[in-house]
Amino acid sequence: MYMTLKRLVLTDDPKQALRMVRHLMAFMAIIIFSIACLYFYYNDMLYKEGTDFSTLVAAFWAGMLLITLILRSGMNQQLKDPSMTMIQILWCTTFLLILIYMLNSMRSIGLIAYFAIVSFGFFRLNLREFIITASYVCIGYLLIIMYIRIDQPLRINLALELIQLVAFVMTNLVMVYTGAAVSKLRDGFRQRNLELADALKLNTRLATTDDLTGLYTRRYIMDMLSKQKAQSERDDSDFVILFADLDHFKQINDNYGHHTGDRVLKSFSTIIKSSIREIDYASRFGGEEFVVLLVKTDLEQAKQVAERIRSGIEGYNFADIAPGLNVTVSIGIANYKEYKSIQETLMTADNRMYRAKEEGRNKIIFE
Ligand code: GH3
Ligand code: MG
Ligand code: MG
Repeated sequence: MYMTLKRLVLTDDPKQALRMVRHLMAFMAIIIFSIACLYFYYNDMLYKEGTDFSTLVAAFWAGMLLITLILRSGMNQQLKDPSMTMIQILWCTTFLLILIYMLNSMRSIGLIAYFAIVSFGFFRLNLREFIITASYVCIGYLLIIMYIRIDQPLRINLALELIQLVAFVMTNLVMVYTGAAVSKLRDGFRQRNLELADALKLNTRLATTDDLTGLYTRRYIMDMLSKQKAQSERDDSDFVILFADLDHFKQINDNYGHHTGDRVLKSFSTIIKSSIREIDYASRFGGEEFVVLLVKTDLEQAKQVAERIRSGIEGYNFADIAPGLNVTVSIGIANYKEYKSIQETLMTADNRMYRAKEEGRNKIIFE
């Protein structure tokens, strides 16, 4: 069923598809309605003088097909109301009013049909539009019965028509009221959805980026590592994990203050970012520990990157925030290809970083 509809609707944009489905539903209703019209026509239930019924029906269908074309071509997306709900409702109501004029009796059938038309508006219309459509049909109906009363008095029982009109107006008032309530509910849902989408975006950002440095979080880099593992299994590519830990960072905090410590972390992050390529991933793994994923990189290339980072922070001038401050980093690197496991590669890089510490810090260990 879904596939059939999809083929009929022929669009991948879910919004456009929904508009088209609703339009097709309206179309089904109109087909039934047209059959009823033909029945009235051939059973002499319509007043035919001065009207060319087949031209009227043709014009009505031409209008509906034009709307189908506009929806199908996507031109509707330039309109203020891309669903064209109001246009469709007013167009159908216009034809309905003509039919009401032509009917010799049972005009109230037309009034019932109006509710079928306007029910499509429940998806879309706001209070103002509900009032416009209700006024259009009520005033239209009143003018028609007045006109018939003056022009062809034999065709009408005015008292009966007026009673029907009053009932119709009352029902329309209720309809406008409930329609407006539905419209408000819809606005509420839409607002809530927008807020949820914003919250989700914020949540994603918080989960993937570190607030202080703007680097990725530990969680995110772990995800990227498993993705890279899968990629590497597919194309047999290398990737290297680089583990960096700032030297004597506790002392920096103690001697220069926590705020300066934060500034050092930010500067170090900038150095990392400028030392790697767009396709690599840098993360703040913990307090002053950083893990970098170097994509499609072998150990030789990784050594050069690590050296850029090591010498970058060693030569960085912190004179503006802490005169006399020198910061160094110890780095361990390991190639995934040698271990075939994220955990082991990470552990090896971490162990090598510790060896760099043992061997006097400000070093890179890769074996
Ligand atoms: P080592 O050379 O052996 O790595 O010594 P270290 O002092 O760097 O190592 P240690 O693990 O003893 O200290 C890390 C310090 O990093 C302790 C902690 O207060 C500090 N730290 C962790 N996160 C932050 C942060 O967000 N901001 C600041 N300013 N300091 C932090
Ligand atoms: Mg440290
Ligand atoms: Mg540490």
